[in-house]
Amino acid sequence: MNRCAHCRTKLNASGQCPGEQPLIRDRWGTAAQIAHRLGRDITAKTVHDWLTRAADPKDRLYGLLDRRNLPGRGRGATYVDLLQAAPVERMTRTSTRGAHRQLDVAVVAA
Ligand SMILES: [Zn+2]
Repeated sequence: MNRCAHCRTKLNASGQCPGEQPLIRDRWGTAAQIAHRLGRDITAKTVHDWLTRAADPKDRLYGLLDRRNLPGRGRGATYVDLLQAAPVERMTRTSTRGAHRQLDVAVVAA
């Protein structure tokens, strides 16, 4: 199964990443779509990790990112607001320098 080199989401039958679809109203997207609007080291999993952290009252990212299910856009699809995700990306980039990022974990383990 081929995966997108950027967000690691499975490519569709025509070899395209679903993350390359335009955002809804220029701001709402799936984790894959949001990952494509942020840095090259941001994967769909990174965005999901942020959502998990944003729901944890003990986490620094608590309350900063909302998870929304938009009606009529596919069963159970979670949408994230780019206007919230961009500052979260900056926070995780400047202060904990990739502590929660898959790529950097591999570097630490090496
Ligand atoms: Zn992608």
